Formats: sequence, C-alpha cells, structure tokens
Amino acid sequence: MLDTFAIDIEPVITSRIGEMDPDRLEFGKLFADHMLTAEYADGEWQAPRIRPYGPLSISPATSALHYGQAIFEGQKAYRQADGSVAIFRPQANWQRFNHSAERMAMPTIPEDIFVQGMRELVRQDASWVPSRPGSSLYLRPYMFATDGFLGVRPSATYHFGIITCPVSAFFGQPLRVRFEQKYVRAAAGGAGYAKNAGNYGAAMLPSSLAQREGYHQLLWTDASEHQYVEESGAMNVMFVIDGVLVTPALSTSILDGITRRSVLELARDWGMPTEERRVSSREIVAALGQGKLQEAFGVGTAATIAPIAIIGHEGHDYTLPEVPADAFSRRVGAALEAIRTGQAPDPHHWMVPV
Ligand code: PMP
Repeated sequence: MLDTFAIDIEPVITSRIGEMDPDRLEFGKLFADHMLTAEYADGEWQAPRIRPYGPLSISPATSALHYGQAIFEGQKAYRQADGSVAIFRPQANWQRFNHSAERMAMPTIPEDIFVQGMRELVRQDASWVPSRPGSSLYLRPYMFATDGFLGVRPSATYHFGIITCPVSAFFGQPLRVRFEQKYVRAAAGGAGYAKNAGNYGAAMLPSSLAQREGYHQLLWTDASEHQYVEESGAMNVMFVIDGVLVTPALSTSILDGITRRSVLELARDWGMPTEERRVSSREIVAALGQGKLQEAFGVGTAATIAPIAIIGHEGHDYTLPEVPADAFSRRVGAALEAIRTGQAPDPHHWMVPV
C-alpha cells in the first residue's frame, strides 16, 4: 500500500542527529528530524506531508485550547536484531486513536495516513532509532481541533501530526503506589477509555499530592464506590494472586492498553490462568495479608512492566514480596522485549516493518 501512497517529503537540510547521546536519552525532549502532518478541512483529510520538525502556528482562539478536543497516542519503533526497524502493533494504536476521536466528536483518520504515514516517517528518520537494549523510538501521533472560533461545538477543522523521539530503557525503581479514594481519574460513562488530553491534565493534581507523600503514582479506583482498582498512574495494572494473572476488566473508565492486551495474550499462550474482572482494594489487602499476592505491576508502553513494591491503603503501607528472577512479570517483560527487537519469533505478527 505504501508504494501506491505518495507522501510529499521535504527533508531537512541539516540533520540534528549529532545532538542525540544514546547514553542520555531523556523522554520527550529531543525530537527526530522530521514530523508528519495532515489537515482536516471541508469534511475530509488532506494529503499528509513529512517535513522538518518545527513549530506550528495557531490562532489564540484555537478550539482545542479552550474546549479540549485533543487526543494522542503513544507507541514505539524498535531496532531489530538484523539492523532493520519495526513498529509494535501500529494498527492497534490506530484503532484506539479512532475510538478516542469518536468519543471526542472528532473525525476518524484513515489507516493510510496513520499507519502508512507513520511507517514512512520512521523510515525517513530510521537513523534516530537507538539500538541499546531497551531503547526505542517513541512515536507520538496527536490530533487537535483547529477552528479559530469560540462557540462550543465540534470544530470543523483539525490538525493531525506524528512526532518522534528516541528514548532509553526505563530503569525506574520498583513503584510505591497508593489507592486514591478521593479524586477520580475517570467515571463510568465519561472519557476514561479515550486518550484525550484532559484526562492527563486532570490527573496531575492528585498525582502530585501523592508524590508529596512519597508515592510514585496512584492506584485509581472507580468513581462511585472508590473500591475497585482501575489503573496505576498512566498504566494498566495487573496482579498475580495465587498463580492467577488478574487485571481489572475493561470499562468506559479504563484505557484499553496495548501492553495489557499483549501481556494477557502471552500469559494465555503460556497456559497461565487469567481473569479480567473487578478487583477491590479490600481483596488486594486481604491477599497481601494471606501471602497470596505474589506480584503487582503496571503495564504500559513507557515502561512495559513496572513492578510495584509498596501499596498504600488507608494510611498503611503494605510491602510486597521480593520478585524472584523467574516471576511472571520478569518473564513476560523479557519475552516482549525479545519479540520487539526481532530476537524471538513473533507468533501474533505484532511487529510491522517500516
Ligand atoms: N492507561 C493509561 C491511562 C495510559 O495513558 C496508558 C498509556 N497509553 C496505558 C494505560 C497503557 O496503554 P499502552 O499499553 O497502550 O501504552
């Protein structure tokens, strides 16, 4: 398809790749040479372009700034063992982007622009894909409403873009998290399952309050009872309870994480019992007390697997057992990394070459 889909490419005159230090890649700071942009007007998407990374010019009345029609995605391209580059499950992010768009009354985007455009962009900046273990090129597709009009209604025009940045392995320390039982990230019937900008802005105050108390992030709970676990920070959350992989079932208040989906698929391939259901804070605290909670971890594109060491609940900090070398979370993290870098077979065809 890419061969028949012509994208106008304006290459940079001078690459900035010399600014990239593979030993010190700070997330989201240094962007690769090119970006992809496409405009929506007159009820349709105009042809996408690839051009040098640079500022956009917008009206102060830009609707997205006032009413928040703004969505994004987060995904990664990996250097393969043979030196080529491949993207992890790009169609899954494209579908989730369109679900977010629908929820925010924004136009959906064709696969040609999102997936094929992304492949072409990554091919253009292939030299920016780092090769150190655990590193990757982070891809950030986004869309926002561009009408310069203050009426509260869906915009008629939109800007879509993809920017990319090299990132290193995430070597965070095991997480200290606590159940949040005052603030909520998302409510049933709201937009928690969408990746719209406002969800992240609204999570910043409660997250910083928890950080001031010494926690890295929150275990969000449901909006009506504050009992059931939903997500951990900007990750999905999983538990191994008595040998069973347990994770909250998807709902309108939980983001359908692609790492979550992939971890569940690998667990099922390996014959591990899995349960997608409601998980209460009471169940977690009880399982901790009975020594049945073997592992707890966040799952998401940024860290892949982020082990949880401490869970705070009603003023008490519970310490989880040490995670042994053969623990499920470690094995699944290593298996995903091997598939993503072309060092292991890819039975589900998750990797898409650029
Ligand atoms: N939940 C939220 C709220 C997130 O922002 C993310 C990151 N996209 C996730 C879960 C994990 O999703 P994924 O595995 O697709 O990165």
